Formats: sequence, structure tokens, C-alpha cells
Amino acid sequence: MSDPVAQSADRPAFDDGQVGVYLHLPFCERICPYCDFAVVAARTLQPADEDRYVLALERELAARRKDFVSRSLSSIYFGGGTPSLFRPESLVRLVGAVAAAFPAASSPEPIEITLELNPSTVELARLPGFRAAGIDRLSIGIQSFQDALLKRLGRAHRAAVAREALLAARAAGFENLSLDLIFALPEQTLDLLDRDLDELIGHRPEHVSTYELTFEPGTPFGRAVAAGRLARCDEDLAARMIEHVEARLGAEGYARYEISSYAQPGRRSRHNARYWQRQSVLGLGMGAHSFEPRTAEHPHGRRRANPRSLDAWLRAVAADPDRAGEVEELAPETARGEAVFLALRQREGLCAAGFEAEFGRTPRGFFEAEVATAVDRGWLEEASSGDLRLTPAGRLLADSVAALFVGAGGD
Ligand code: SF4
Repeated sequence: MSDPVAQSADRPAFDDGQVGVYLHLPFCERICPYCDFAVVAARTLQPADEDRYVLALERELAARRKDFVSRSLSSIYFGGGTPSLFRPESLVRLVGAVAAAFPAASSPEPIEITLELNPSTVELARLPGFRAAGIDRLSIGIQSFQDALLKRLGRAHRAAVAREALLAARAAGFENLSLDLIFALPEQTLDLLDRDLDELIGHRPEHVSTYELTFEPGTPFGRAVAAGRLARCDEDLAARMIEHVEARLGAEGYARYEISSYAQPGRRSRHNARYWQRQSVLGLGMGAHSFEPRTAEHPHGRRRANPRSLDAWLRAVAADPDRAGEVEELAPETARGEAVFLALRQREGLCAAGFEAEFGRTPRGFFEAEVATAVDRGWLEEASSGDLRLTPAGRLLADSVAALFVGAGGD
């Protein structure tokens, strides 16, 4: 049965009429030296701090839901930070509040509810409670199964706890697990990567997210690289690692459906796909981002970024939750650049007809020079329909290809 909410509203065909809700829970036991996320160090998260944060989220949800009115709920995502530091009863409250704020879509698929989890013994004891709260998908920050690499990354957990986490998650009834894997660490070799892949594949997760280690300015790792105290992984080796990961996971039945994401059939992340497909997302919490629906007034949608400091966000929500974030109305050229960049991250690439339906001209109509350059360099393949997809060479240089289009939105 189709979704009556989506049908009833006057919205363009490329808008699915739904909303995904992202809740940012920023606390982490300790801050990893490469982390550039909006996080707060909390060796032990005090119940009073947790309760205060949950209350503020509820308040922000109550104020912001009107911007997504008449939309049905597609997904809930608890990201962080380390959201699994929260007690299951807090998640029950939040899932209940979100579900009460939006009607469920009438599709046969249940709402996807994901929780990011770091392996630690405290959190493992909470797994049955998380499952009972309605969480049906865990995204587990494994990163590596080798203690030396975990130590190098400054992670709080060790490999034995990661293994325990996977067993405990299955025992608690989670049938949809996504594992994070970091590669291109300083001193990492292809052999060391293979060891991690062997073990990861052995656990048969439904989904894998892979991240090349980056050295963001302002992080301890970024400063160490700038000062010459830490050497990045060689670029060619990092590229070989990307190909190696794709080949090994591909041989095991995982499709690389997005530049960093691999899934068994039917196990793509529905929530994350909303970002790549530019569908509405309500982001709640410190540092959270929203993508508000396109309307006649805002034909390309609006983005909203919440304050990245805990105090600033709490103060803003207490004062006026409706104004807690910084709003950016998307200019047409920004929206076009992002539409190309985000579509090219996905395996299916950019549908020229869909792009034309939204922007009035085909991708070449706006990006003639950029498309020609990327095709000439062997980074893009172009179908006779005008659809565009990254080639294997383009996938290795996805950021460079994106840079061609973002900020060059044509006129
Ligand atoms: S656990 Fe994740 S979010 Fe927390 S500090 Fe480490 S990388 Fe950042």
C-alpha cells in the first residue's frame, strides 16, 4: 500500500514525504586523538546530566516537528559521541517521543532504528535493554581487531571486548549489525589490513562502513602530522587498500553501494541514504544538522546546524528551541553541486532525468565543462541517457571529482 501521507501533500516527486530523525548524543568515555566530531568527554556519564540532555532533546523535538509536519517517520538514528553510554530507559523515552511526533509510514518495512555503540563492558550489559527499546540496528565502532592498532588510534576498547560485543549483540537478538573499520593508519600494511578483514568477514555483519583515517586540523593527530611527529599512510598504499577492501568484501557478497558503505542484499542503511538522496532529516541535539523539506518558499530546502558546544546548545534550547540552530537557505547553485556530489557517492550515480526534473536542465546543461573534464580523465562514465557514475578510477579520487562540481553550480 502506498503512503497516504506522502500522497496527500503537494510536494515534488523527488521528495519521499518522510522524515528521518537524527539524535546526537555527544558524550564519549574519552576523546580519540583523530576525532573531529561534536563530542564531550565524560568518563562516567552522570544520570543527572543524561536526564537534562534528554529533556532538552524532547523540548527541541516538540518545537521543531512543525517544520516536518504531515511527514511520516522513516528512521531514527542515535549517533554521537557514544550514544550507548545512555541508559536504555532514556532511549525508550526518546524513541517514544519521536514516534509520537510523526505517524509511521504505511510501508511494510518497519521504521529503522539505529544506535551507535562502542564496545565496552558497561554498554554490553545494556544490549537487551536497547533491543527492548525498539533499536533494531547497531552500528558498532569496532575500527580494528588488533590491539596495537586500537592503541595507536587511542581507542578506549581492546579487541577482546570487540569480539565479546559482537557475540552479545547477536545473543540480544540484533539481526542487523553494521561494523566500522578504519584503514590507512600510520605504519599499517596490507597484511595488517587483511587480518582485520579476515576477522570482520568471519563475523558476517550485515553492513560495513569503512573510513580512511584523516588528520583534521585542530585534532591531536592533525597537529602531530603538521609538526612532523606522525607520518600519514602513503597515498598509493591508501588507494591500494581501498581497492583491496572493495575486492575482499565484494567476494563475500557485500555491495559497495556508497563510497564508504558496503551491505549484504537488502541491508543498506535507510537512514544514511536519506542524506545521500537529499531527503528530509530532522537533527536534534548538540551539533546536529537538519535538512528541512523543500517548500514553495524554500525551493531547494534549508539546512540547520545546531551549536557545537554543549552549553551553547542547552542555553539555546532553553531560550527558544525553534531558533537553536543556524539556518542556511540553499541557493540553487549550492543545491545543484550537492545533488551531483552526493549522487556520485552512490553506486547508482546521478540520474539525469531526476536532476532535470528538479533543476530544469540536465547535468550537462549546468556542468558541461566539469562533466567533460571528469569523463576525459576517466573518472566518470556517462550513459546515453546522460546518467553519470564514478568509474573505478573515479571512486579512488571521489573527493577530487566532487571538488569539480561543488561550488561550480552553473547558472
Ligand atoms: S568514540 Fe567516536 S565520537 Fe567518541 S571520540 Fe572516539 S571517534 Fe570521536
